[in-house]
Amino acid sequence: MASHTLDDNKALVVFSGGQDSTTCLFYAKEKFEEVELVTFQYGQRHDTEIEVAKKIADEQGLKHHILDMSLLSQLTPNALTQHNLEIEQTDDGVPNTFVPARNLLFLSFAGALAYQIKARHIITGVCETDFSGYPDCRDDFVKSMNVTLNLSMDKNFVIHTPLMWLDKKETWALSDQLGVLDYVRNQTLTCYNGIIADGCGECPACKLRARGLNAYLEEKGVK
Ligand SMILES: [Zn+2]
Repeated sequence: MASHTLDDNKALVVFSGGQDSTTCLFYAKEKFEEVELVTFQYGQRHDTEIEVAKKIADEQGLKHHILDMSLLSQLTPNALTQHNLEIEQTDDGVPNTFVPARNLLFLSFAGALAYQIKARHIITGVCETDFSGYPDCRDDFVKSMNVTLNLSMDKNFVIHTPLMWLDKKETWALSDQLGVLDYVRNQTLTCYNGIIADGCGECPACKLRARGLNAYLEEKGVK
């Protein structure tokens, strides 16, 4: 049987074209010789999200895998996949943008793809600090998922979560350290209304992003 050894210098980044995963992309480029990207397509509120991801992958000269996860919209009538729903917080503190088990599914597919392309390292921008109410973005879950992937394929994958304990201000600081603050600011899409860069300024994602950016720029003394 041919050997199927994972390449220790190769990383797969779970990539959406947003601020966090784009910062992870540059983090990966700094740490690993070979980087590939995976984007999950599942009826996002805006097709712009996929276009933005493609453009960034292209500009960075990285191989980009786009996986069709449209079956997610069969499981959940919520604001991320149903374009006519308003985004709001539910009684138990979980936003109605929550797609049950989304990150569980994404990391499973990322693991299967990492196996195929022989990448030992999987990088995801999930974060526990700006806790969004998504249980499968927490550190304990990701650690458990890492064990599960390894057992399921009999491999030693390493899931990296460089943003896990950073707040939005610190994520901007990381992109600045990586020399890409302006690129991340101007080329990424975080806004729920599908407007790139600084976005609409009104939605929760824009407000969180702007608060972190302003705090960082203030600290740096440029604002
Ligand atoms: Zn917005």
